[in-house]
Amino acid sequence: MRTSQPQTIYLSDYKVPAYLVDTVDLRFELFEDGARVHSTLELRRNPESDETAAPLELDGDSLTLESVALNGAELAAGDYEDRGDQLVVRSVPEQFTLTVVTWIEPQNNTRLEGLYKSSGMFCTQCEAEGFRCITFFPDRPDVMARFRTRIEANKDAYPVLLSNGNDVEKGELENGRHFVTWEDPFPKPCYLFALVAGDLVEKRDTFSTCSGRDIDLRMYVEPRNAEKCDHAMDSLKRSMRWDEEVYGREYDLDIFMIVAVDDFNMGAMENKGLNIFNSSCVLASQETATDLAFQRIEAIVAHEYFHNWSGNRVTCRDWFQLSLKEGFTVFRDSQFSADMGSPTVKRIEDVTLLRTAQFAEDGGPMSHPVRPASYMEISNFYTLTIYEKGAEVVRMIHTLLGPDMFRKGSDLYFERHDGQAVTTDDFVKAMEDASGRDLSQFRLWYEQAGTPVLAISDDFDAETGVYRLTIEQSIPDTPGQTNKKPQHIPFALGLLGQDGQPLPLQLESGDSGAPTERVLELTEAVHTFEFHGVESRPVPSLLRHFSAPVRVRYNWTREQLLFLMSHDPDGFNRWDAGQRLAVDVIQSLVNAPDDAEIDPRLVEAYRKLISDADLDQALVAKMLQLPSEAYLIELTDKADVPAIHRAREAVLRHLAGALKGELLGCYQRHQGSGPYEVTPEAIARRSLRNTALAWLLMIDDEEGRSLAVSQLNAADNMTDRMGALRALVNSGFESDRQEALDDFYNRFQDDPQVVEQWFSVQAASDQAGQLSDIHKLLEHPAFDWKNPNKIRSVVGAFAGQNLAAFHNPDGSGYQFLADQVCRLDDSNPQIAARLVTPLTRWRKFAPSYSDRMKSALERIRDKAGLSRDVYEVVHKSLAD
Ligand SMILES: [Zn+2]
Repeated sequence: MRTSQPQTIYLSDYKVPAYLVDTVDLRFELFEDGARVHSTLELRRNPESDETAAPLELDGDSLTLESVALNGAELAAGDYEDRGDQLVVRSVPEQFTLTVVTWIEPQNNTRLEGLYKSSGMFCTQCEAEGFRCITFFPDRPDVMARFRTRIEANKDAYPVLLSNGNDVEKGELENGRHFVTWEDPFPKPCYLFALVAGDLVEKRDTFSTCSGRDIDLRMYVEPRNAEKCDHAMDSLKRSMRWDEEVYGREYDLDIFMIVAVDDFNMGAMENKGLNIFNSSCVLASQETATDLAFQRIEAIVAHEYFHNWSGNRVTCRDWFQLSLKEGFTVFRDSQFSADMGSPTVKRIEDVTLLRTAQFAEDGGPMSHPVRPASYMEISNFYTLTIYEKGAEVVRMIHTLLGPDMFRKGSDLYFERHDGQAVTTDDFVKAMEDASGRDLSQFRLWYEQAGTPVLAISDDFDAETGVYRLTIEQSIPDTPGQTNKKPQHIPFALGLLGQDGQPLPLQLESGDSGAPTERVLELTEAVHTFEFHGVESRPVPSLLRHFSAPVRVRYNWTREQLLFLMSHDPDGFNRWDAGQRLAVDVIQSLVNAPDDAEIDPRLVEAYRKLISDADLDQALVAKMLQLPSEAYLIELTDKADVPAIHRAREAVLRHLAGALKGELLGCYQRHQGSGPYEVTPEAIARRSLRNTALAWLLMIDDEEGRSLAVSQLNAADNMTDRMGALRALVNSGFESDRQEALDDFYNRFQDDPQVVEQWFSVQAASDQAGQLSDIHKLLEHPAFDWKNPNKIRSVVGAFAGQNLAAFHNPDGSGYQFLADQVCRLDDSNPQIAARLVTPLTRWRKFAPSYSDRMKSALERIRDKAGLSRDVYEVVHKSLAD
């Protein structure tokens, strides 16, 4: 049920549930024209609730109620009220059994919330509020119950019937039907309920836990995907081992299942014992998935698995606490990925996402704290702030406490709250209690929105040998929050002498054994630190490893950045110095005359990088990536996107032209031999070659063209194939581009995950993704408006990555996006609300752009019957 004036829900209104549910007994009768759901709940009044006379209120959405019975006796119409979004039973005893029968239509469920059909199979997505689309229930995470689920369906069409826990009974029924009953011994909130029914093949493996129990691991996929499970299965086993070793967490059920589903709003879902994945986040083979996809799959499999403890065994009290499970679990999966590959590269990737997208969110109209104080539609709060900034907050606790104390804190947290629904404050409290540290000021990270700014100045006194660093913190105003208090910020730094050697950081004079890196703790608005025994003016290496999610303002000279690029012992800051230098050069060219000089020192720095075979090649591969347009926009007020795009391309072309010989050398040097491997070294090698290729094709180099064509034809893996295809698509070689795209499609047209990559490589390209091309992609037979991945790969890639085309000065890109949002709002409001995001940043852009973006938003606002999801995003972004 959607209303035109959505209500705001406040954290301050939280009350414990009036009723508790001890057990849930579900029986699903699945048919082609719908499903009947029999739900029997054992309920009792919550002794902790002061609402002693409250009626029983159960949540519902899009349900047809067939009957209600209290303690076995069917209720008459006057005994209850079906309000559509609520079932109210006025008079109930202290403890009772309620049986509710509902009829739902999964085959017509295009919102993909609750129970729906995807490629002929039934599946569910209940987080955050999908369970109420299945049956009437107190749909809130602090109601935890034990579930027993019986599924009945036609045996030929749905031989596999899955739910949470262990299968305890199965058998045949009349009319070619069968049933399976599942029992989950662990109490859980209903958002972790899952059901799958389909004709799926099963891949099995086992895992032996640290205490010697054998866990049955199963993956269920459509038969055509049977060969694409190995990587996810291996990732799962690595995750299970890692969680035992690093966090002491052992798996608890006898079975762990993963199912791949094509139509899915999210990436994956951690339902207890039965994780459901978007196919694109779990299926991989050398021929069909890029290195990036392999890494992403490993990380997502780990993330969902880690939720078994951080999310399922200990869950959120209410949805304002979403970061309790997400921030902590993202931190855990990021530690895991760092351990599996290169920690520096992983940090660079995380920070890139954070600085580009989360900082933009933090500075925009949807800015909210890691623990929000209010929301209209919780689906809109599955944000980068909750996930990525939330993970950074946990990471800072890890930095402040150190790994050993942090582990004590997490042990205490799991032990103290096992089986409970708790708050972010409970998490911090466990960390405080275990370590003895006072984190009261640190808690502001959960309460205050906005990205803190550190303005840093320094001076050096040659006579006394004192280097002085002054750090002033401020936090910008955000919607509903002004005059913020200083936060507790761990600030890691080092100082480099003129010979490039790290200096001991003597906070007191004469401390010759001082470390060369320190984590300073900022708690006041202004701090001054003095470093003694410094012989000549040092170069500061600030905020090493990006020790806090803040913006650093310091007047680096280009000489200092070049120096840090080649000397900083912190790989992250080496990369960051290169980014800052490139940003500075590109920004100086925005709206400059065409013949403006490009700093030759940038060319020399890149020449050194490309040619230096001694450096960590994974780091070199990252350092060669110029800052993205999205990041450059994020750093600019009143951005003129086409001008930024031109400046960035000019630098890229200039570098490619000047370094052609080095690029060809790099391409040849990194030619792989032997079988395909997904190791950090092999990934770096492919990345370097594909970057070299992309740069050569930026200048329409003939040698580059023939290398790309032969790489495309000879590739034995998707990374190389896609690298060559992308380079050709972004080049001026029009006939090669078209031929490459056609061949690629013909080869992979039966594989939806590869077709999605084919769509997005075009939609994200300023050469192949002009608006008229995008319209053609939407008309393509492989495009499907019901499939979120297809929508993301065309509409999302166009508005999110093809920025010069999206920000066409005539406003056509904005109107296009508004059209698609309005179209999707009726069928899938969650996806529609996510697609709006690029428009919500309208204040970031130069007036001629922002006016047109605003009018596109107003058109969406005025659509009749706007969903609550889109309503909230659009109204907040238009508010003063
Ligand atoms: Zn998660």
